[in-house]
Amino acid sequence: MSPDPSLPDPGTNSLHVVAVRTHRHRAPLRRPFITAARRTESVEYVVAEVVLDDGTIGQGSAAETLAVTGESADTIRAALEGPLRRAVLGENASITDLSARVAGALDGATSAKAALEVALHDAWARAAGHPLVELLGGRLEDGLMNDMTISLEEPGVMARRAREAVAAGEQILKIKLGHDIAVDRERLAAVIEAAPSARLRLDANQGWSPEQAIEIITGFEADALPIDLVEQPVAAGDVEGLARVSAAVSLPIMADEAVWDVEDARRLVDRGACDLLNIKLAKTGGLRGALAIADVARAAGIECMLGAMMEPRISITAAAHLAIAHPAITMIDLDPPAWFASDVPRGGYVQDGAWLRLTGGAGTGLELLEARVDRAGGER
Ligand SMILES: [Mg+2]
Repeated sequence: MSPDPSLPDPGTNSLHVVAVRTHRHRAPLRRPFITAARRTESVEYVVAEVVLDDGTIGQGSAAETLAVTGESADTIRAALEGPLRRAVLGENASITDLSARVAGALDGATSAKAALEVALHDAWARAAGHPLVELLGGRLEDGLMNDMTISLEEPGVMARRAREAVAAGEQILKIKLGHDIAVDRERLAAVIEAAPSARLRLDANQGWSPEQAIEIITGFEADALPIDLVEQPVAAGDVEGLARVSAAVSLPIMADEAVWDVEDARRLVDRGACDLLNIKLAKTGGLRGALAIADVARAAGIECMLGAMMEPRISITAAAHLAIAHPAITMIDLDPPAWFASDVPRGGYVQDGAWLRLTGGAGTGLELLEARVDRAGGER
């Protein structure tokens, strides 16, 4: 990919941020989202909004995910209105410099950082009049096949959800598994019987010991089940356990909770601890951190998934632009908006069967989300 000279250079094109605003929303889900780690019935989220000196507005968002990032809507808003706002307000700097300021403004707070860093990128691309994907080096017309998550429930319920998803055009199902491998086998058997044409991604969300993981995955292989990968089988901190599982099985093993930043990615890749990486903007603190991981993966010949927390459409659309732009990102797990009872704002992307395609327009291509537009929950 050679840079297009008509596009603004991320290292030199200067932005002047004159305001950083936030508004808060609550979005009920259509039904509970359940994993081995948590149960979610509604999503509290904060929209970060930046205003440039020419009046251009960009938006990013961050959802409360206490069980994953440790951030609540209150801490996200406090970070945005305190150290993060101070890091970028009034500055005349390039998008890469502004992203570095966001990253260095405080420790942790990766969701809050992602919201602001995405808002800056959205404003940058809107001001330049280009879709964000193009400024990240990709092509608007490319798409990726999305998946649909099947929550951790009783086998019969998971089978029904799987059947409904395939009937709606989905081709890849992400199956949440849990702590009891005997019941997990029943869950998977029920899903496969209900949706025999679907490709499956399994996600144990750290639910198994390395020994359990090896036992259950080896069994899946012996039964030749239609499984593409197994995500985070063991505890996030157990890199040696993850490496042991990867070495013992032939199905590709993906790291998720074990990879937050580029240092984690390098450690996992150098150790050969996994075959695939799951990148999420809420873990990396935004697009630049995610690009750094994808670059490490590309150099190592490793493919990545672009995933997300249970986040609103603004976060998901930014992730889709990045995923479509980067050659090492070959998979997306970006179904959260389908779970929202009120999926706002409009635009950004459409899903055609299993395929996710960007709509075009400058920046993320989304309409701007106004405070109080979310009638299901409302701004407060
Ligand atoms: Mg996962």
